[in-house]
Amino acid sequence: MSIDPKRLRKAYEQLKADAEAGGYHLNPDESWTLGLIEGILTNEDRYGYGSCPCRLATGEKMEDLDIICPCDYRDPDLNDWGACYCALYVSSEVLAGKRPLQSVVERRPTTREKAADRPLPASGIRLWRCKVCGYLCAREHAPDVCPICKAKQDRFEAFVLPPDALPGP
Ligand code: SF4
Repeated sequence: MSIDPKRLRKAYEQLKADAEAGGYHLNPDESWTLGLIEGILTNEDRYGYGSCPCRLATGEKMEDLDIICPCDYRDPDLNDWGACYCALYVSSEVLAGKRPLQSVVERRPTTREKAADRPLPASGIRLWRCKVCGYLCAREHAPDVCPICKAKQDRFEAFVLPPDALPGP
């Protein structure tokens, strides 16, 4: 199933604008980048969510939440390797040609603990944390969309900051 070229171009322009607005960069190799975006759109049509084009999805959204693009591993991979696992996103250094693109070692754990299974500390300051970019907010509910990386609400996890983590008066 191939993706309509107009839809693909629109998705590319939108992703590029969102990335730059959030301080991220798409791979400047346009044909590589378009190929990856085509894979994400194909997964969106197949599963109902845009899972990573370089990883095998289960078809169960809750199982695959961590690999919906942008995945939970993008930012640490950008820090450590200068690119995400698929090289859809690259760091400023790679973009500027100061660091070569290299293969990225998969950091997705083979067995994952579900956030819902993890008990939260009984006391502390309750926050919401975006699992994609680490944005924190102290609200009753997580925002619909992360203002930094545009990840949807289901990519947020409850997070409790221990009272002793705050600086004293
Ligand atoms: S950000 Fe993550 S999900 Fe998106 S293309 Fe890169 S590795 Fe795949």
